[in-house]
Amino acid sequence: MGKKVLVLGEVRQGELRNVSFEAIAAAKQISDGGEVVGLLLGNVSQSLADSMIHYGADRVIIAHHSNLESYTSDAYSQAVMQVIENENPKGIILGHTSIGKDISPRIAAKLKSGLISDTTSFEMIGEQVVFTRPIYSGKAFEKKMITDGLIMATIRPNNISSLQKNETRSGEVITMDVDIKDLRTIVKDVVRKATTGVDLSEAKIVVAGGRGVKSKDGFKPLQELADLLGGALGASRGACDAEYCDYSIQIGQTGKVVTPDLYIACGISGAIQHVAGMSNSKVIVAINKDPEANIFSIADYGIVGDLYEVIPLLIEEFKSVAVY
Ligand code: FAD
Repeated sequence: MGKKVLVLGEVRQGELRNVSFEAIAAAKQISDGGEVVGLLLGNVSQSLADSMIHYGADRVIIAHHSNLESYTSDAYSQAVMQVIENENPKGIILGHTSIGKDISPRIAAKLKSGLISDTTSFEMIGEQVVFTRPIYSGKAFEKKMITDGLIMATIRPNNISSLQKNETRSGEVITMDVDIKDLRTIVKDVVRKATTGVDLSEAKIVVAGGRGVKSKDGFKPLQELADLLGGALGASRGACDAEYCDYSIQIGQTGKVVTPDLYIACGISGAIQHVAGMSNSKVIVAINKDPEANIFSIADYGIVGDLYEVIPLLIEEFKSVAVY
């Protein structure tokens, strides 16, 4: 029997994040013919609600309150709880993003429900939803299901395909004023760092550099390659510690987790803490001058060589085929 599933949509710089569309696709399957309800918080435009519908939501609720303009766990969880009380969904799907990771345990605790976080796939076995999630830094996968109550899960970006956009789909968009009180923190201001290009956690192609890149300037060809491929630049902690690049692009256990279609690791040894953040990439290419480097044990393609020679050749080659 179909069930109602709620999806929390996340807006970044005026646009919905891809993972929100992926969450809708997951919710659609989990709902088993039931209703998929999108939820947006704050003063968001009708066009964002429409895009959730174009990607498969049946209805969208926009929860309004002046304290929802910037994320705080207190305000967001109060708003989400009011929508849950009104809607009584049987499932809630969120992206495994900074917000999703922060808010989902809070909501699960309030609802006294189970939560399966960082899922990369799921299967329907009869009425049950069995989720798969990586454990031990991606060395193993566990299958997990919620035995009772609400089905609540966060999904890792880039793992579940979103549905085809259909601009002819229509659905109801409802605005709901929510009550937010007793906030312990409020955001006074957000000063954004200048960022360019593709969002690292959702990039389809990542070019990452390690300590083997040897300098800040050494990252320029990597950035050029990333730009050429329409991808994003990433780094190991070794490179960030050496101040070759900013910690905001660190990949790994204590950095970002990425699952691109293509990961090009340049001058990265493949320490377990790095691998934890990228081992689920669909195709891994490693460039390292040490043939014994651990990164080759998880790479699909390995190039043993000096990255200062290999990367210019790759740039030249990609420019000549110019398929991107
Ligand atoms: P190195 O290990 O120094 O490797 C450099 C590589 O570059 C070598 O393999 C070398 O052969 C190669 N090389 C050198 N010159 C060239 C050249 N010219 N051409 C080609 N190859 C070349 N690390 C992370 O990345 N992310 C994390 O989130 C993270 N979290 C951590 C958490 C904890 C609690 C701890 C203890 C560590 C963590 N680390 C993390 C650090 C991790 O253990 C490694 O120290 C780090 O990943 C090493 O970075 P690296 O591979 O760039 O450097």
